[in-house]
Amino acid sequence: MDTETSTQPLIARYDGVVCDLDGVVYRGADAVPGAAKALQDIVARGVRVVYATNNASRIPSEVATQIAGLGAPATASDVVSSAQAGAARLATDLSPGAAVLALGGEGVVEALRDAGLTPVVVGDDEGPGPDVVDAVLQGFGKELRVRDFETAARLLTTGMPWVATNDDATLPLPWGQSPGNGAYVDLLALALGRRPLVVGKPHPPLYGLALERLGTLAARTLAVGDRIGTDIVGAEAADLDSAWVLTGVDRPSDLVASASSPTYVVASLADLLRPYAAPLADAGGWSYGAARVVLDGDDLVVERGSADPIEVVRAGLAALLASRDEGAPSEHLRRAAATLDGLLDDSPTSTR
Ligand SMILES: [Mg+2]
Repeated sequence: MDTETSTQPLIARYDGVVCDLDGVVYRGADAVPGAAKALQDIVARGVRVVYATNNASRIPSEVATQIAGLGAPATASDVVSSAQAGAARLATDLSPGAAVLALGGEGVVEALRDAGLTPVVVGDDEGPGPDVVDAVLQGFGKELRVRDFETAARLLTTGMPWVATNDDATLPLPWGQSPGNGAYVDLLALALGRRPLVVGKPHPPLYGLALERLGTLAARTLAVGDRIGTDIVGAEAADLDSAWVLTGVDRPSDLVASASSPTYVVASLADLLRPYAAPLADAGGWSYGAARVVLDGDDLVVERGSADPIEVVRAGLAALLASRDEGAPSEHLRRAAATLDGLLDDSPTSTR
């Protein structure tokens, strides 16, 4: 890295950001501290931001209202949903105005309509047959009934196109994990012996739609998210640089057990506005800023700490990911990374 870029904020390397929402901008109903201000500052620099969400049940204007209510810049066109990516995909394969079964909530219905297709829903009878419907778009919908899945099965048995907005197996609710759209996709797939095309994260189509909306080049676009399995794997599949944000669910011990290597590890969105250097390897150790760590067998030893815990996390993760890529067993890495998990959770700036 040249010295010029290392004194510039990280975000100066990009023209566009594909930003995740839950765990990055908000957590449930609460704002992630500092996120809205960071997004304002990013947009003020002339960098475009879109919010990419796998949530197919909510309509983009409703999502934008929530984001704007937290003080971050957002209009409906800044929200790219998996339902929109699904509808866009079907619109390229079908004739304009073609009828598509909307197996989902209002977000799926609206996305189909906006893509120039005709959404059809199952009423109180057995629902539309294959003579009137050309394809099925499946997304999460709280009001879906067994009758809706029966109608979808009857249509899909004919082999017509089937697109799913996302395949997240679980939907996190305040009490724990509830079945997500992926579980309902599996339910149909089990009965039918076929599977849909999935467009949401970590699959590339949602990123393709986000890039189209941003009007930026992939090489100048940064994907930001808190979940390794969706946001970081998705960025890698779409060939985008990624910033893994530690304000959400996944911890360093989750990263070392994955096969992913995010381009950047950031404590929060505010870190996008600060310089970012690559961690440095020396004889036996890794350093970042003031921090230095060494791997002693299976132990990660923090030889020198830092006032800023993220510096220790970056040095520690560089050491552990290098060890992972040389074949170190996952359970050893997880145990060593627990030191970094603890550091984040004990940090006075911890947002968990
Ligand atoms: Mg998230």
